[in-house]
Amino acid sequence: MWDKLSFSHGVHPPEHKDQSSGVPIRRMPFPEEIVLPLRQHAGKPARLLVKVGDRVERGDKIAEADGFVSVPIHSSAAGDVVGIGWWPHPDGSMAEAVRVKVEKFSPQIPRPRVIPLWEGLDPKQVVAAVQKGGVVGLGGAAFPTHVKLLPPKDVPIEVLLVNGAECEPFLTTDHRTMIEFPDRVWFGVRIMMKALGVERAVIGIEKNKPDAIEILEKTKPKDLNADVQGLYVKYPQGAEKMLIKAVTGREVPSGKLPMHVGAVVQNVGTVACIAEIFETGLPLIERVVTVTGPGVNKPQNLIVPVGAKFRDILEFCGGIKENVTEVLSGGPMMGAAQPDLDAPATKGVTGIVVLTENESRPRTVYPCISCGHCLDACPMFLNPSLMGKLAQTAEYQEMTERANLWDCMLCGACSYVCPSNIPLSQMFGMAKYQLGRMRRKEDAA
Ligand code: SF4
Ligand code: SF4
Repeated sequence: MWDKLSFSHGVHPPEHKDQSSGVPIRRMPFPEEIVLPLRQHAGKPARLLVKVGDRVERGDKIAEADGFVSVPIHSSAAGDVVGIGWWPHPDGSMAEAVRVKVEKFSPQIPRPRVIPLWEGLDPKQVVAAVQKGGVVGLGGAAFPTHVKLLPPKDVPIEVLLVNGAECEPFLTTDHRTMIEFPDRVWFGVRIMMKALGVERAVIGIEKNKPDAIEILEKTKPKDLNADVQGLYVKYPQGAEKMLIKAVTGREVPSGKLPMHVGAVVQNVGTVACIAEIFETGLPLIERVVTVTGPGVNKPQNLIVPVGAKFRDILEFCGGIKENVTEVLSGGPMMGAAQPDLDAPATKGVTGIVVLTENESRPRTVYPCISCGHCLDACPMFLNPSLMGKLAQTAEYQEMTERANLWDCMLCGACSYVCPSNIPLSQMFGMAKYQLGRMRRKEDAA
């Protein structure tokens, strides 16, 4: 069962990881101001707890989880709340956000806090501590982690799959985390196995990271029933359903979730983040971000305070070059182009990739020539060509009924191979957004 190391279809974009894969993680200094959007996770945005003029310390809660599929948000720096209002979000939209002017000479010491002793907690208490820590998936989707750790009682989970594939070109956040903090990764695996009550874990890593595979194999605790599994290098190997197929051979049926085939998938950065919560008691207030691409002067892997603006992060990396055409939040396959560099690095920002003309996609879009390349690329066996035509005429409902839009994971493989430069995955993302809006309007009526 464990010998199938990849999935069908997919693409092989150039990896472009050399600029930052050998650069050790370092900490970015605190900027003058941080901006904390209330919508940093999938699900309901957090509920505001502060007002303009309030003083906050590093790690203080500034917004409360609003329901089960929601997490709190904490200040990543000590300072004063100087504004609450709409602000550019790294997904390209605007979102309500809290602005904190960082106290210049503060030692940034968090308030004393109780560090939960995970061995003494039952699985429910572990999960509650994870939600309290504001943890979301750090691989980009930002889904609240505690929700995945609480599957329904009648759905048995057999295996925890840790996603160390990092298949997006350019990004090296997970790679560096695995190399530099292997013990932390294993500690996080141990805690998650306890929370889920599973006997087995597998860390899946693409074979283009042999150093990460080696160090995790060397540091694996002897008493843990866990494996490190090298995987073929293919995009999108790190998508949940692709990872499950590669490691277990199981296929997640249309409309179902990983738990329906007995698996829970967590990004390796998320696993390390959970370990940190039980090491320090601090919530999720900083994360590793890869800043790279031919358009940035000093590519780096940085620990960034959540809420630091793209502009400040890029400045710390020596600024951007004159011939820059695009700044992306995330990688070139799934990332979002940034119209405004005042957008902050939220919990879900894996990287900042700065492109020049050579790497940017051509802007001229031609009509579909029915070549079928997108069908061959789609790992979900969808028909992106048909979906694209329906999206052009705003037939969103038809996209779900005739083309299974909801199975599309917006991986961008179809856009990547399209010779007509049709931005297929962006169109599908927009269709999902519009359908969501229509649904919310119907619910409110
Ligand atoms: S974006 Fe959607 S349709 Fe396109 S390849 Fe990925 S899963 Fe298939
Ligand atoms: S790859 Fe582009 S041109 Fe070819 S069938 Fe798909 S949408 Fe049409």
